[in-house]
Amino acid sequence: MPLVATATLFLSDLHLTPERPGAAASFRRFLNQKAPRADALYLLGDLFEAWVGDDDLALPFHAGIAAALKQLAQSGVPLYFLPGNRDFLAGPDLARAAGLALLKDPTRIDLYGSPTLLAHGDAWCTDDAQYQAFRAQVRDPGWRSEFLAKPLAERHALAAALRCRSEQAKAGKRPEIMDVNPEAIAEAFRRHAVSRIIHGHTHRPAHHRLNVDGRPCDRWVLPDWYGDSGGYLACDASGCRAEKLATDVLATDVWQ
Ligand code: MN
Repeated sequence: MPLVATATLFLSDLHLTPERPGAAASFRRFLNQKAPRADALYLLGDLFEAWVGDDDLALPFHAGIAAALKQLAQSGVPLYFLPGNRDFLAGPDLARAAGLALLKDPTRIDLYGSPTLLAHGDAWCTDDAQYQAFRAQVRDPGWRSEFLAKPLAERHALAAALRCRSEQAKAGKRPEIMDVNPEAIAEAFRRHAVSRIIHGHTHRPAHHRLNVDGRPCDRWVLPDWYGDSGGYLACDASGCRAEKLATDVLATDVWQ
């Protein structure tokens, strides 16, 4: 009998929304076909296009995703969610409904003996001062409780307006402004004493081999799941490899 290789899987930036059913269908197939054999599954933010509070579970689309995750968790695969800039309002009700553990951004883990730092990635885009000011504002506990006190429909409308404003602002920014800052990354490697960082957010999937103070370090950037793209990172004791969503996963509709 062949050995079944297992790995820990990392995903981010699926931006799941009822408006893009293709990505949700791919994710369900991934959960059904790939994830059950994983040692653990880490979702590193922007799982949802928008999450305006845990009462967002009232949306059947959201409840369906949470139920699919819970089914995986109940089958014995540990699930972790480190929220991103689109779903930072994820809280304990979502965690319960989806059977996952919420992680702080950033979180340091021991990955098969290699200290590894996990983050969404937006906090390291320090060249974008306008975005960082916005990020600080919406992560303020006062802003958070004031926002969460508004009716769900009003929060959805506000979030849509914010996304629209963000898209307009992005159109006027040079692309490099919206990438992570190299010094912020070097500082993260130093401060957290890791040799590997895994993050998403920038939608610039890559494996960057770096040298920080004479130490070889790896920065893995996860792909987004827009359009027909999508993928994940699989890590085991021998290292990490970027996996594209296999054609069979995208094409075979085994999930009903
Ligand atoms: Mn993001």
